[in-house]
Amino acid sequence: LPASRTPDATTTMICGYCSTGCGLNIHLKDNKAINLTPTTEYPVNLGMACPKGWEALNVLNADDRATTPLLRDSASNGKLRPTDWHTALTTFTDRFKAIQHKHGPASVAFLSTGQIVSEEMALLGALAKFGMGIVHGDGNTRQCMATAVTAYKQSFGFDAPPYTYADFEQSDVIVLTGANPCIAHPIMWERICRNQRSPRIVVIDPRRTETAVAAEAMAGEHLPLRPKSDLTLFYGLANLLIEADALDHDYIREHTTDFDAFAKHVADYSLDRVANETGLPAQQLRALAELIGSGKRVSFWWTMGVNQSHEGTRVAQAIINLALMTGNLGKPGTGANSITGQCNAMGSRLFSNTTSLLGGHAFTNAEHREKVAMALDIPVDRIPSEDSLAYPEIIEAIDKEQIKGLWVIATNPAHSWIGQRDFKRIIDKLDFLVVQDMYRSAETAQHADLVLPAAAWGEKDGTFINSERRIGLVKKVAEAPGQALADFWIFKLIAQYWGCGEMFAQWESPEHVFQLLKRVTADQPCDITGIADYRMIDECNGIQWPFAKGADLSSERRLFEDGRFYHADSRARFIFERGRPMPEPVNEAYPFVLLTGRGSSSQWHTQTRTSKSSVLRKLYPQRVYVEMHPADVRRLGIEAGEQVSVASRRGALQAIAFVTPTVQRGQVFVPMHDAQTNRLTDPVFDPYSRQPAYKACAVSVRRVAHW
Ligand code: SF4
Repeated sequence: LPASRTPDATTTMICGYCSTGCGLNIHLKDNKAINLTPTTEYPVNLGMACPKGWEALNVLNADDRATTPLLRDSASNGKLRPTDWHTALTTFTDRFKAIQHKHGPASVAFLSTGQIVSEEMALLGALAKFGMGIVHGDGNTRQCMATAVTAYKQSFGFDAPPYTYADFEQSDVIVLTGANPCIAHPIMWERICRNQRSPRIVVIDPRRTETAVAAEAMAGEHLPLRPKSDLTLFYGLANLLIEADALDHDYIREHTTDFDAFAKHVADYSLDRVANETGLPAQQLRALAELIGSGKRVSFWWTMGVNQSHEGTRVAQAIINLALMTGNLGKPGTGANSITGQCNAMGSRLFSNTTSLLGGHAFTNAEHREKVAMALDIPVDRIPSEDSLAYPEIIEAIDKEQIKGLWVIATNPAHSWIGQRDFKRIIDKLDFLVVQDMYRSAETAQHADLVLPAAAWGEKDGTFINSERRIGLVKKVAEAPGQALADFWIFKLIAQYWGCGEMFAQWESPEHVFQLLKRVTADQPCDITGIADYRMIDECNGIQWPFAKGADLSSERRLFEDGRFYHADSRARFIFERGRPMPEPVNEAYPFVLLTGRGSSSQWHTQTRTSKSSVLRKLYPQRVYVEMHPADVRRLGIEAGEQVSVASRRGALQAIAFVTPTVQRGQVFVPMHDAQTNRLTDPVFDPYSRQPAYKACAVSVRRVAHW
């Protein structure tokens, strides 16, 4: 290496894409990152990284980074023009205050993210709600894991994914539902591959995904159930387990409630009915029930195929129920385990101050408000006593012109929001839209009145929490370009311009905020008061919550080892309900079920970052494609590689036909990475979590020439 490329130091930090939370060694020259390698000693990834992680530094230097604030006003002829921070912050304050003055405090809202560090999320939530009087704010995490949050809260009494990644290596049976870790969480899949117990891997998914193929190659199996028949499947499995008396009676008696009512409920799910509704052979259903009830270590894992559903909360709870009735919780290699998506989605669950109060508290609970006010030294009357609207309700309120000002931070709803056909029409109703982002070209930034240029991962300090509840450090290893600032400092400046800077005098730096956040977790299930400081996190290679004073770092940090849950009676709940019909069944005009999901391990969500890497672009097709079954293309006279139109009741897109038997007949798959995909999806929501059901709607497919 030339001297300019020879590192003189190395530091370790957490990758900024997915919730796996891999450790990356960042190699430095004169305190600036020059390249990276995955960290061998980090207990998450053990020296591995996926393509996104390897390319994490390269996307920081993209040409379209936002380097100055941008303002659209009468002087700029309707175009965004560069401006200075003073003008930007004055405009931000004047416009939002004017809206609140005219329409009330709740007429300004914010939409945030799972992509910024916990300390920034907490400062944003506190500034918005305690400082600016904003009532409604939610995160894009509503789109990926709100269902798991609601399911855990109702079943366990707190939003607490119970597992540690070592469980991948300690299971005898690994049941993956609506999850494709081979490409969505590649390092987790590698952890499964390290399991020395010859586990049986079962993949439950309508599509024969990369993970299904890999599982079959490892003597596992794929259950290609009909889309959205998962609730029926899990109730049917529960019924089979009860009929075979393959239950952990001691566990049910000592640690749960409502089992008898649940058993009565699932008695309706006969083997014939379940086989008929799921499309799975009775023999395969029996074999799976026997495997789950075999007394071996069974772990259940799920991601978006469950969460992004019109009845996702009850499906997640049906999985939790299987774990409870077989005693597969709190022991190595077990668990009802939701894997989350974004690098700090788990931080947002505890610290975003959006739909729950900081530290997993409730806005509607007076004692909680008192406790948080004391811990943060703020007047208790500054804490709203009502819950925020959830993301879809905020969009609805904009449509009804109840919300007139919106502040969007590190998320891209113009691409990712399920009701994309209506999104532009709706946000055009706003009086003022602010987008705070690292790229000026993000689709949502194109609609903004004001763009605030933000520093990226790698250009600032703070902590992320990964899927196994491990708090890890993010460090500043590069300078943000131009006038871009860390979100933390943008929030501090806004507080000052708004006139509430004094309230955040103690919030001096990310590490000061971490110390405040420790206080709000005291005596909560997520208590982290035993973590001294950032240095301790660094030296310990991350620390999983809970970590109260006196906690032991040497043990595996799995939850519920003592069988005690977070409800007042310490028992977990069996929660269940009759299934709901698919919101949009196929018919003659729209005869295909559209499945959506991740298309590649090289791409991330709306591609705002990953599309900036030439390496990652080469690993993923640059044209929209639709996966179709060979029999369907034959019937429609479509050639492989031909341009087709995919249309739903809401809109259409053109795509290349990719012919593959990995989708079943009557189903098609389109990756979520292209902005057009959400022209098709149907804006329906799980009633409990308000999470959008991205995964199944009815579409038609036609040759373009015949359309
Ligand atoms: Fe980063 Fe996730 Fe890839 Fe690990 S698996 S390197 S955390 S994107």
